[in-house]
Amino acid sequence: MGVYDKCAVFGIFGNRYAANLTYLGLHALQHRGQESSGIISTDSDQFYSYKGRGLVSEIFTKEIIESLKGNIAIGHNRYSTTGASSLNNVQPFAAHFKNGDIAIAHNGNLINSESTRHQLIEEGAIFHTTSDTENFLHLLAKSQYYDLPEALSAVFSKVKGAYSLVLMTKDSLIGVRDPYGIRPLSLGKLGDSYILSSESCAFDLIGASLIRDIEPGEMLFITTGGLKSYSFANEKPAACIFEYVYFARPDSLLWGKSVYSIRKKMGAILAEESTVDSDIVIPVPDSGIPAALGYAEKSGISFQMGLMRNHYVGRTFIEPSQSIRHFGVKLKLNPIRSVVEGRTVTVVDDSIVRGTTSKKIIKMIKEAGAKKVHMRISSPPFISPCFYGIDTPTRRELIASSHTVEEIRKYITADSLNFLSLEGMLKAAGKKEFCTACFTQNYPIKLESEPAYGTPLPFL
Ligand code: AMP
Repeated sequence: MGVYDKCAVFGIFGNRYAANLTYLGLHALQHRGQESSGIISTDSDQFYSYKGRGLVSEIFTKEIIESLKGNIAIGHNRYSTTGASSLNNVQPFAAHFKNGDIAIAHNGNLINSESTRHQLIEEGAIFHTTSDTENFLHLLAKSQYYDLPEALSAVFSKVKGAYSLVLMTKDSLIGVRDPYGIRPLSLGKLGDSYILSSESCAFDLIGASLIRDIEPGEMLFITTGGLKSYSFANEKPAACIFEYVYFARPDSLLWGKSVYSIRKKMGAILAEESTVDSDIVIPVPDSGIPAALGYAEKSGISFQMGLMRNHYVGRTFIEPSQSIRHFGVKLKLNPIRSVVEGRTVTVVDDSIVRGTTSKKIIKMIKEAGAKKVHMRISSPPFISPCFYGIDTPTRRELIASSHTVEEIRKYITADSLNFLSLEGMLKAAGKKEFCTACFTQNYPIKLESEPAYGTPLPFL
């Protein structure tokens, strides 16, 4: 059983504060993974590594950062998943090779990782982790090529799935996006230093500027000689639309567009499609805020903050059974009675996955005295699990995989429920080829069989 990560990667080349800037970059990318983080740096002589569990700010101290020497560094934030949370699985991973030392950090999921791993073990490989990312290293070790671009291209021809990678040798930083470009990876510049980051919000924090995205099927080598780009595949791109819906930070520029603007547009189109007479529009914070703003602006209904979010919620330390998990929403969100009492309220959120959150929120708002609660969702029904790196529950747990909109409305006890249409979502996201598998079941990379998959969403 592999570990399914939805993560953040960061890398920097040619900066005397490489580890410190990587630490800051990981901090800005914390929303992409909160379970563990690691940084590996190099001074061209050797690798220096530190990994830990928890938030970036909890793991690294000034002394640790100072011990991570050199001008090149890569870092990784890992998303929380059940099981297999040992330090062994914390990235980046480093290994010694015939072509020199190499370190790797990965965002995404491989869909042929089990069969590849099985074959590698049959052939004598000894795995140190349960992460699919280790496959890259074993495949590289077995490569017939000494030239790194050639060897890596050969590796990529054997792996299937989603991978945005940052790799590091003693004298280079390498950025890679899988042939479909499912997960993001951007290139930035700070003075003479080059930076790779899952999202551009990390560039803002350290004062770097965004240059461009790494292209699908591109491998970009950054050395003292400059940049060298290789194309190792040519597929129809399929960037993950759910990055725009929920996952990326609104202050990031993703694939050339502001995530915030796209979310607002999704909300505006949702209002065009399904405005319902209400006294106020309230978002589910934080994820629903831009869409609710767009919805309110378009519908002309007053935008209010009717739910307050507690940002400091960790865990409930209670058995994570479905019934007790309901409690989690209350720990995180609380209605403002004076805003909702006696009013007809439209609540906007970005997605319904299991339906647990919406159900609990509507109950809370009604208990706080709302007359009616209409639910509006700024994406289509989430009908199918993601196998490319967004952590989703199993198909069975996805409420929209087996229930109609009317059945979901009844379950969450909303007075009305509407989802954004697929066309509306794509219109908001603009002209681009997307992976919409979670909403359409059209998987751009075909699965051999549906893997057992899914963990409780940490939101709950
Ligand atoms: P659910 O209760 O399962 O319907 O969860 C829906 C809520 O979880 C929405 O408020 C979303 O913003 C949020 N959400 C959607 N996808 C994810 C994810 N992959 N991880 C964590 N939270 C998510």
